Amino acid sequence: MTRQINLEEKFSNYKSGNTGQCHICKYSHKNKSLFHRHHITYFPENIITVCETCHWNIHHAWIKYDLIKFTPPKGDAKKFYGGEE
Ligand SMILES: [Zn+2]
Ligand SMILES: [Zn+2]
Repeated sequence: MTRQINLEEKFSNYKSGNTGQCHICKYSHKNKSLFHRHHITYFPENIITVCETCHWNIHHAWIKYDLIKFTPPKGDAKKFYGGEE
């Protein structure tokens, strides 16, 4: 799980689309670097802007917060980033 976040951070600026507002809690800030971009799905590519807290919740506490709809299908992240699977 930690590895997936690192990969997203590494690629987080390769495409524009950071809205400066969290898609989940609606927190917004003019400093867009506070936000992360999270893949809902990889095929097709579907990205939302989220704050750091919500991003952590998606990857680590999605059952508690009912965020499963924001979790990409298992294995897709590896496929997308050309992992070793
Ligand atoms: Zn948020
Ligand atoms: Zn993510």
